[in-house]
Amino acid sequence: MPSTSKLLRGGTVLTHDADDHVHPIKADILIQGNIISKIEKGIIPPEGAEVIDCTDKILSPGFVDTHHHLWQTLLKGRHANHLLLDYMPTGNFTSSLHSPADIFWGQLGGAMECLDVGTTTVVDFAHINYSPEHTIAATIASGIRSVFCYCPTPRIDSWNPLVMNHDLLAGWVMSSLERLAAASPFGDGRIELGFAFDGFFLPKETVISLFQKVKALGIRVITTHVVRGVVFGQDSIPELLKSYGLLDSSILFAHFSNPSPNCAKLLLESNSHASCTPSTELQMAMGYPVAFDPALRIQRNCSLGADCHSNNSASLVSEMRLLLQNARAVFNQPFVDAGNVPRKVNRTAEEAFNLGTINGARAIGMHDKIGSLAVGKYADILVFDALSSSMVCAAQHDPVAALVLHSSPADLEMVMVGGEVRKRDWMLEAVDVGKGEWAGREGMVGWREVARELVGRREELERKVSGLDFGEAERAAIREFGVEVGRIVEGVVGSS
Ligand SMILES: [Zn+2]
Repeated sequence: MPSTSKLLRGGTVLTHDADDHVHPIKADILIQGNIISKIEKGIIPPEGAEVIDCTDKILSPGFVDTHHHLWQTLLKGRHANHLLLDYMPTGNFTSSLHSPADIFWGQLGGAMECLDVGTTTVVDFAHINYSPEHTIAATIASGIRSVFCYCPTPRIDSWNPLVMNHDLLAGWVMSSLERLAAASPFGDGRIELGFAFDGFFLPKETVISLFQKVKALGIRVITTHVVRGVVFGQDSIPELLKSYGLLDSSILFAHFSNPSPNCAKLLLESNSHASCTPSTELQMAMGYPVAFDPALRIQRNCSLGADCHSNNSASLVSEMRLLLQNARAVFNQPFVDAGNVPRKVNRTAEEAFNLGTINGARAIGMHDKIGSLAVGKYADILVFDALSSSMVCAAQHDPVAALVLHSSPADLEMVMVGGEVRKRDWMLEAVDVGKGEWAGREGMVGWREVARELVGRREELERKVSGLDFGEAERAAIREFGVEVGRIVEGVVGSS
C-alpha cells in the first residue's frame, strides 16, 4: 500500500449516480493510501502529497474485465482467422507446451497489456493450471487487481495422437486449490482466489461436493464458460446449476451465449452474472453478444470481457464499441429490411461504458470497492488526455462518448491501481519480477525488456509446435468435445 497521498487536481471526473448515470464534474480527487478520500473542488493537498495536474484530463474509473485468459500472450496473432475448433488445439491446448517461466512471462505480458489499455481489475479464467504459483507471481508483479480463478483443466497427455487427460479433480489439483486458498489473498490483498470450472460432464454428486468444497474454502467467485451450441453442447448450464442447487450470485457465466428465455430468467432471479466478450463471440460463431439483446432484458446482470488477448486487443473500450455498434446493427436491420428507419438509435455510449465499469464490479460483488469513482472506493483511476487528436472536442462535448467511441490506449496517460501508478506519461512503469525464482531473472524490468522476453519465448514455443499435426489435433478435439461432425458445414440456407 502506498504510504503517500496523491492529489489529482483540476480534471473532469466521471462520477456515477444511484441510477448508473454518469455525471462529468470538475473536481479534484484526493487519494490517501489506496482509497479515494475526497472528490471535490479546491482540495488543499496534505503535506507531502504528490500533486498531479489533471487540467484537460478526463478521470475515469478503471475498467473491470470479467472474462480473460491472461496467460495467452505467447499465442497472440495466431487466431485472427480462427473459429473455436481452430482455436482450441492451436491455442488453448498449447498450455501444455509452456514452461513455468513461459507461464510467468505470458501472464505478466497479459496483465501489463490490460493495465496499458485501462483494465485495473480482471477476472482471470486461469485454464492453465501448470504451476499456478508462477501465474500468481506474475499477476502480483504486474500490479493489476485480479480474481485469479484457478481451473481444473484437462491436460494433454500426448499430442500425436492427441490424448487428453480428463482426470480433472486429481489429488494434486485439489491440494493445489487448498494451498492457494490458505495463502489467498495475494499481492497486498489485490489478488483474490476464485474458481473456474467447465467440467459439467462429471456426475452430479461430484459437481455438488466440489462446489461445496470451493465455497468452504472461502471462494466468492465461480466462473464457467456457457456457449450453448454445437461445440460446447446444447446443455443448459444455468438450468443444470439450478437443478443442483448451485445457482446463486457467486456464479459468473462467460459468454452466456444463446440462452433460452428460462436461462435469462434464472440469471436475474439468482442474481448471477454474465460476461460478454464481443470480439471472440462475434468471430467464433458463438452467437450475438447477449448484453444488449432487447428480448432477453438481462443487461443489468451483464458485463464485458476481452477473453483472449491471443485473438484480439485486451482493450475493454474496443469491446464496448464493438458491442454497441453490433447491437445497433442487429436492431436496425429489420427496419432496413422493411424499408423503414428506426426513430431512435439503439442503446447509448453510457450503457456500454457501464458494462465495462460498474456492471463489471457488480458481477464480482465488488461494487462497493471498484467500478466507479466515489469516496471510500479503491483509487483505481484512469487519466485520459482530453486534448489528444482523437479526443479533442469530443472530450469537451461528451466525455463518455469520447471514451467509448473516440479513445484508444494511446490517449490513456496514467493508470492507477489502489493509488499505485502503473502507467505514467503514456508509458507502463517497470515491474519487479522477484529474485529469480519465477522469471529466470531478477529485479526491476521495463516494458521493452518484458517484450523482448516474450518475443524470445514465442519463438521457442513456435519451435515446439512446428512438428505438431494440428489437423489431427482438431479432429481429436472434435471427438473429445463430442461434436456432431455432420453439424460442421460449409453453408446453410440463406448464407452465401
Ligand atoms: Zn474464455
